[in-house]
Amino acid sequence: MGIGTNVEEAARRLAAGEVVAIPTETVYGLAANALDPAAVARVFEIKRRPSFDPLIVHVRDVRAALEVTDSWPSAARALAEAFWPGPLTLVLERKDVVPDLVTSGLKTVGVRSPAHPVAQRLLEETGLPLAAPSANRFGSISPTTAQHVLDQLGTELDFILDGGPCTVGVESTIIGFDRERCLLYRPGGIPLEAIEACVGPVHDARQDAPTSPRTPGRLPSHYAPRTPLLLGNLDEMLEEYAGQPVGVLAFRSARAAHVCRVLSPTGDLAEAARRLFGALRELDAGRAELLLAEPVPDRGLGRAINDRLRRAARARTVDRDAP
Ligand code: AMP
Ligand code: MG
Repeated sequence: MGIGTNVEEAARRLAAGEVVAIPTETVYGLAANALDPAAVARVFEIKRRPSFDPLIVHVRDVRAALEVTDSWPSAARALAEAFWPGPLTLVLERKDVVPDLVTSGLKTVGVRSPAHPVAQRLLEETGLPLAAPSANRFGSISPTTAQHVLDQLGTELDFILDGGPCTVGVESTIIGFDRERCLLYRPGGIPLEAIEACVGPVHDARQDAPTSPRTPGRLPSHYAPRTPLLLGNLDEMLEEYAGQPVGVLAFRSARAAHVCRVLSPTGDLAEAARRLFGALRELDAGRAELLLAEPVPDRGLGRAINDRLRRAARARTVDRDAP
């Protein structure tokens, strides 16, 4: 396993069918040539990801996206024009060149053009569409540095391309389409407000389970630390768990606790998003037996942060209810 900053080496390895961790502005991705089913199968294996969870395909630009997708609604074009390259995934009809494994057999494929300059250089160098889920084990906390990837997947990877810490820190916003209607599948790095300013009202499709694909970006429990996490009013919870070794994840102001991480002292949601997964990892690695977190304001990037916190918290309920 190698780690380094050599884009040409990463491109060569990807072209040879290897799996390479790559930097993007959202989180680090576990990339493979999207058109090579054997390489994509290794991504699922390394992540221990169930095959019903489709991968997002990363492309250089709209032109490259058109090689793997068909018939774009005009709203999709408007969104790509406004937010690509950037943390926005569009779910569109797929072309037959895309292997079933990438889309979990769906007729649609999620595509996005990442804004990270290293990811862009890599896409240019390979000329390939790259299927890349987050570079962590399925269900656990997403990596926002090369070190995070090394810590969890180092022994199973061929190469980690180090592009520094991720600047956005939460995954992409995912938008699908029902004819011209825009559907929100996952809040993420592009605020919903910005999307609605571009294309008008967006339908929140997260609860539309029976008619939509069951995909884990949408599973209730995901992005979870190993330590149980509770989400709620910090001061009330601290009173309840007084004297116990708890770890605290606070939005703006520190609390007296065994260990505490503050996401943004100035209340900046972009800074909070950037720090979220790193702070969760640090708390999870410590000796706290319980993590307490508070929701952030539910606007802009705050929606994505709250979404991840809610699902990190739900892991505990799901475990308890399991037979
Ligand atoms: P990630 O875990 O960041 O790689 O994102 C993968 C998520 O993207 C999946 O769990 C789905 O929620 C979503 N996704 C990808 N492709 C599709 C698709 N064709 N239809 C619906 N959602 C998709
Ligand atoms: Mg993921």
